[in-house]
Amino acid sequence: RIRRRTVRCRHDIETLSHNFLSIFESLVPAEEEKAKQKQLLLSLQNLVNKEWPNAKMYLYGSCANSFGVSKSDIDVCLAIDDHDSSKSDILLKLAEILESGNLQNVQALTRARVPIVKLMDPVTGLSCDICVNNLLAVVNTKLLKDYAQIDERLRQLTFIVKHWARSRRVNETYQGTLSSYAYVLMCIHFLQLRRPAILPCLQAMDATYNVTVDNTQCTFFDKVERLSGFGARNKETIARLVWAFFHYWAYQHDYTNDVISVRTGSIISKQEKDWTRRIGNDRHLICIEDPFDTSHDLGRVVDKFSIKILREEFERAADILQFDPNPSVTLFEPY
Ligand code: ATP
Ligand code: MG
Repeated sequence: RIRRRTVRCRHDIETLSHNFLSIFESLVPAEEEKAKQKQLLLSLQNLVNKEWPNAKMYLYGSCANSFGVSKSDIDVCLAIDDHDSSKSDILLKLAEILESGNLQNVQALTRARVPIVKLMDPVTGLSCDICVNNLLAVVNTKLLKDYAQIDERLRQLTFIVKHWARSRRVNETYQGTLSSYAYVLMCIHFLQLRRPAILPCLQAMDATYNVTVDNTQCTFFDKVERLSGFGARNKETIARLVWAFFHYWAYQHDYTNDVISVRTGSIISKQEKDWTRRIGNDRHLICIEDPFDTSHDLGRVVDKFSIKILREEFERAADILQFDPNPSVTLFEPY
């Protein structure tokens, strides 16, 4: 198949920034929503501590990484030292505690890939998933949040990309497309590689944050307030970045050889990771290295059917941004 290359960006691209920023603003959750989330976390923490005084609850995922749109469910992680009980037993006990604490629709899903308890809180109206001891997710949540504070264009770009992915139904891991987490990593990586760079590589800098979870050492520079202004030498607008992001994934990324790596702030090769052939269900058709669990390819959910859908959607988006008279509408047309 011959790939078309659209090298030069359309001349009126900058007129789109205004529209993209309005879309971004309309998706950002209001402050009172954040307050409700904190309130729910506190009441859950109090309930749980009656049974397990040393247990802690952490918010993770999009409600804590600053890439959450309004009205999302919240993700909570219960951190508990209990070597005598299995995860299922802990989840069943947790469900019992929550049920007696007046939370609604409490359900323990002990056989899911990530076992959780689901619930609805009638006081705040929020729904919530609670997992047990998934601390790597708490740490990668902090990494994403720290990146978001360095340059505002990261959140703007990611909200647009997530909104596109949801509208076009390519944000469904059970259908073989990518998780929100994968899209955030794609955006961070993309901004690390702009010239001049818009984002640094926090894991390549002197570590100011250092934790070991599940035998994985997680270290990075987290004094991000010292990095404000890092990307200022790069003057690219949000419209140009959205265009370039889709252009990259449609026409420039080398799907045969490349792995994107936020950990190193560079492209690394499939060869060096030994991600060149299918192993079990891991096909490595689009490779996104997890920043901490480096054996984990976030693209592993993608199969030979969904890779085609995904790439066609990247091309559709790139072509709309290049040629469509009204890209900020057409881009998000429901699939
Ligand atoms: P959404 O707005 O779609 O809810 P989200 O940021 O909560 O977005 P999810 O894909 O629901 O994203 O994942 C929640 C969190 O779980 C992520 O932020 C990440 O910390 C962790 N996570 C999700 N998928 C993976 C994965 N495959 N490997 C490691 N951590 C993951
Ligand atoms: Mg979530």
